[in-house]
Amino acid sequence: MSRPYWSRTRPAWCRSRCSVELMADIVDAATRSRMMSGIRGKDTKPEFLVRRGLHARGFRFRLHGSKLPGRPDLVLPKYSAAVLVHGCFWHAHGCSLTKIPKTRPDFWRQKLEGNQARDARQLAELNDMGWRTLVIWECALRGPQDMLSFTLESAASWLRSYEASTEIARSDWTTTTAAL
Ligand code: ZN
Repeated sequence: MSRPYWSRTRPAWCRSRCSVELMADIVDAATRSRMMSGIRGKDTKPEFLVRRGLHARGFRFRLHGSKLPGRPDLVLPKYSAAVLVHGCFWHAHGCSLTKIPKTRPDFWRQKLEGNQARDARQLAELNDMGWRTLVIWECALRGPQDMLSFTLESAASWLRSYEASTEIARSDWTTTTAAL
């Protein structure tokens, strides 16, 4: 069997350490970051953090309301609530995690605006059906433990409050900590 080209061209000590570098050669930045987050494993996925956090706070829910618009990540009929965990890039949050790729920026802008319009439509449909909606942005989940706790506590008190639809982003946490 012939050896892969890099094992012939790179010294032995480099082979494993250079895998990221090799990946950089063949995929663009967005794909690379997806691959890297895959490597970190399932448990750090934003949806999982929300599920685990709300379960620990005593909430019980159904997963993926597949018959509902936008397939909410968590459905809590007792609270008339649907929780959607939105990745900041794909759902075009406009925060620091949302960077338009340098290659084909027009394509991406159009694509992300389309996603944004679809999200707005789906949230409106859910509201029309009598569901309160909570969008938790990825940026409110990726960061210090304090921020994660703040996000989950905010979600928990919103669920119990029966308040109207809302969203939680990292900016909610930074505003709160700045006010302290
Ligand atoms: Zn964000």
